[in-house]
Parts: sequence; structure tokens; C-alpha cells
Amino acid sequence: MQQTIKNHIKEILTPKRYEHSLLVAETAKILAEKYKISLEKAEIAGLLHDCAKDISIEKMKKMLKNEKAILEIADFQPQILHGFAGAVYARNVFRIEDIEILDAIKYHTVGRRNMSLLDKVIYVADIIEPSRKCSKIDEIRIEAEKNIDDAILKEIENKIAFLISKNIPIHINTIEMRNYIIEKKKVRSV
Ligand code: GDP
Ligand code: FE
Ligand code: FE
Repeated sequence: MQQTIKNHIKEILTPKRYEHSLLVAETAKILAEKYKISLEKAEIAGLLHDCAKDISIEKMKKMLKNEKAILEIADFQPQILHGFAGAVYARNVFRIEDIEILDAIKYHTVGRRNMSLLDKVIYVADIIEPSRKCSKIDEIRIEAEKNIDDAILKEIENKIAFLISKNIPIHINTIEMRNYIIEKKKVRSV
């Protein structure tokens, strides 16, 4: 299964994006072991998370014709489409039916409220895979070793600052993912 997926994504992604996908899958397996979830699901979701990255925006919009909320913001936030389109592609082309894998692909860019551990593992693996460089990356890698929620919070801080500096709209899920994690932490600490 994994080898078939690798062969296929090599055909549809740029070499750099293909290498990134392999590294996300490897990093996701390490995190899956640490956080005690299925290594196989983590590897498959990691390999496929960016499978729609090189599809044109027009084609992604067609693939997402049933997702009204996404289509409404598609022209303003095209960067977030490839996760949602990736889940459609993974289901239709790779015949993935596991909803946990499909959701981890779907929400890997913007997250959501109440993320599953697999969602979080893929979200974080995408950020910290060894070839990635971004500000605060070392701190995020250290947090990922200790507490995956804290790693996500640190990354969202960076991401929101970046989006604001570029005047790019912040997707509602990005805000909801952050609020939810903070709310949960507060409940645990009272
Ligand atoms: P990649 O696909 O491996 O490069 O990583 P991502 O799936 O995280 O996609 C990164 C892109 O999504 C960057 O261009 C980010 O600016 C963009 N992005 C992430 N979150 C948001 C958001 O809330 N709103 C918008 N408009 N773009 C976002
Ligand atoms: Fe992505
Ligand atoms: Fe990625």
C-alpha cells in the first residue's frame, strides 16, 4: 500500500514536494509512536497530506463543488484548498476510506476544533519535518517532544503573525483550533 502510494505521488508532485511528503510520513511515524497511535495510519496520511498540492485552483474548486463553506472562501484563501481537495483525491483515487486518515489530510493546513491525535500528528509533522525551516522551528521541535498541543500553539502564534504581516485572511479553523486547545488547557488547570 505505502509503496503504491509513494510511486503514485512521485508522479503527481514536484520532486521537492515528493521529498517533503516522504519526510512528513517519517516524522509522523516517530510522533505516532510517541503519542501511541497507529504508525500505519500516520505514514499513509503523511504520504498523502499534500497529494493535491500541485492541482490547479480551478480543478480543486471543481473537486470541492459539494463543500459550500470552502468554495465561498476559495478565491480569498486559495492556500487552504489543497488539504480539502487532498481528502477528496485520496478517497477517489487511492480508495482510502478510513475517515481518520481522510480528516488528517483534510485539516492538515488549518486544523479544526477537537482535533484527533492523528490530525495533530500530521499537522505537527508537516511543520517540523527535518528539511523545514521557519522561525521558532527549534522551539516547536522541542515542544513536540513534550506536548503536542503546546507545539501546535507555538506554531499558530507564528502562523497568525505571518498571515497578518502579509495581509492574508486567517481561516476560521485556525482560530477555532487555537481557541479549543487553550480552552482545554484552562479546564485541565482549574
Ligand atoms: P505545505 O502544504 O506543506 O506547504 O504546508 P501547509 O499545508 O501548512 O500550507 C501552507 C500554506 O497555507 C501557507 O501558504 C500558509 O500561509 C497557508 N495557510 C495556513 N493557514 C492559513 C490560514 O488560516 N489562512 C490562510 N489564508 N492561509 C493559511
Ligand atoms: Fe499542505
Ligand atoms: Fe506539507
